[in-house]
Amino acid sequence: MAFDIALKNGNIFNGKEFIGKSNIYINNGKIVKVSKEELDAKQEIDAMDMFVMPGLIDAHMHISGIKGGSLLKLMFERPEYRTIRATKWLEKLLLAGFTTVRDCGDPISISLAKAVKEGIIKGPNVIAAGRPITQTFGHGELSHDIPLEVSETTGFSEICDGTESCIHAARKVLREGSDFIKIFATGGVLSQRDKPENPQLTYDEIKVIVNEAEKVGTYVAAHAHGDKGARIAIEAGIKTLEHGTLLQDETLKLMIEKKVTLTPTLSIQEVIYRHGKEIGVDEWGLEKIAMVRDSISSVVKKAKDYGITIITGTDLGFETGLEDIDIGKNWMEIVLLIEIGGLTPVEALRAATYNSSIAININSGLIDSGKEADLIIINGNPLEDIKDISKVSYVIKDGKIEVEERKIKN
Ligand SMILES: [Zn+2]
Repeated sequence: MAFDIALKNGNIFNGKEFIGKSNIYINNGKIVKVSKEELDAKQEIDAMDMFVMPGLIDAHMHISGIKGGSLLKLMFERPEYRTIRATKWLEKLLLAGFTTVRDCGDPISISLAKAVKEGIIKGPNVIAAGRPITQTFGHGELSHDIPLEVSETTGFSEICDGTESCIHAARKVLREGSDFIKIFATGGVLSQRDKPENPQLTYDEIKVIVNEAEKVGTYVAAHAHGDKGARIAIEAGIKTLEHGTLLQDETLKLMIEKKVTLTPTLSIQEVIYRHGKEIGVDEWGLEKIAMVRDSISSVVKKAKDYGITIITGTDLGFETGLEDIDIGKNWMEIVLLIEIGGLTPVEALRAATYNSSIAININSGLIDSGKEADLIIINGNPLEDIKDISKVSYVIKDGKIEVEERKIKN
């Protein structure tokens, strides 16, 4: 029996480590054999002298965002228009070697996930949070000057206060089709008047949301900058901690004990810090960024030393038009984990593949038999020069060649 696809002679990073030259055999969308043996296949790709690794994962995005850095613009664009723009973002992500993105809060992401799955549009597989859950006067409201009734009808977040209301909110977003639940456990940078260091939602509120998620076999991801809010969320049972910019030692240790992963989202912090004004970030965002950006480097270094699982998430939800950080250049998070977070190239590639796949619960991110055939071929060697991660020439997703020589296949 011939295999569907054989990917031959590539230098393989399997998601955990570099394993050298080998062949990968694919059948029915799955990797069925990784071996030096020469076997026949209906289609062969010669990856001689090229670098082969699992498809990249961006585990924190908002894929139906806007152009420019003012999130308030979300309120003045029709969802239909943002959906059309998002389809272009998804194509760019696929071309850049991303085979999965986890959307951490965006009502449209559920439909985009379905459209990719059904083959209506091209893109990475989408794991969608749908609408995130926020408290009144929380990060998920974006503006705190608009009347509350208006805020409640924007539909960007589900607003809840008190345990009963939070149970209802969790059930509502799960009913809408969320793959996991995203909550805001502290204030944030791009929302108007709440502070990143202040906790949001109580232990009891988060606990009931975690309980509803676990009942249907999923988990909660928590946005948290401040140490106190992060700690409350971890104690209440969340599984992935997003940002974590102000985490203290005791909380980092607790993350190990509770097996919570960290998504440092360095890209969003860098883009606002370096280019915030230029791309139109609202004044409050510009004021709040320095504090969270200053501390994240030491947090990531400590997290690495403690052995916390670190994953890649850019938190991009807007097109910047910039040379360094933009939609379709999401591999910058890998570069920044090395430059700012002190990870080695192997650790950074592991964050973007194996670590992320385990954290977001998908069966790819590792080149091994039984795993989904989500693979990329790179014309270069990112372990020698990490910027080579941008030189993706083939993308295979679910066992299908989606990109060949950097062109999306029809
Ligand atoms: Zn986010």
